[in-house]
Amino acid sequence: MKELLIATNNRDKLSEIISLLPKNLFKTKSLLDFPNIFKTVEDQPTLEGNSIKKAKEAFEATKMLTMSDDTGLEVYYLNLAPGVYSARYAGENATYNDNVQKLLDELKGVPPRRRFARFKTSIAIIGNGILKTCEGSVEGQIIETQKGINGFGYDSIFIPKGSNKTYAEMDLSEKNIYSHRAKAFFKLLEFLQQI
Ligand code: IMP
Repeated sequence: MKELLIATNNRDKLSEIISLLPKNLFKTKSLLDFPNIFKTVEDQPTLEGNSIKKAKEAFEATKMLTMSDDTGLEVYYLNLAPGVYSARYAGENATYNDNVQKLLDELKGVPPRRRFARFKTSIAIIGNGILKTCEGSVEGQIIETQKGINGFGYDSIFIPKGSNKTYAEMDLSEKNIYSHRAKAFFKLLEFLQQI
């Protein structure tokens, strides 16, 4: 079986990515298996730039076929913030809850019809002679108070279009029907099966 390095230290993201990969195609590792690799500074202006940078640095350190994911939440009322800054919206060492609270504060008093948002994921795959990127996005709405206990990040305040539940009220298989990350993976399926 081919080996694939998933360039993340985030266990939540890792389990989602593994759930989306075709079964029995790859033996996966993550950066949790390589504690000595330096964490990538995510300083690129776009999600695609950051996903390429993360995959490139991990590939250079390990020489393994590497995949990375960079995700952002774009809120239209906030001129597409937090976007590429989603992980550190409330500061460098912000927790998921800090970021969610800051976003809810910024949207305090904003009516439902002006709370539209979009999740976007860029995935990069880098290997010997391989560079492939792909994007998936999903429209939805930011609600006023957190709902649900599953998932991670901003899941408890985002309702994807076509559902009446937040991502955090769904189990993983239901989130994968709607999610930005699943949409990016779907576009990659054929490529993944050929490498
Ligand atoms: P990054 O891709 O690790 O830089 O993540 C950016 C930010 O978005 C982090 O705060 C994540 O917790 C959050 N995030 C990433 N993916 C998701 C998701 O699928 N649902 C909710 N939040 C997410």
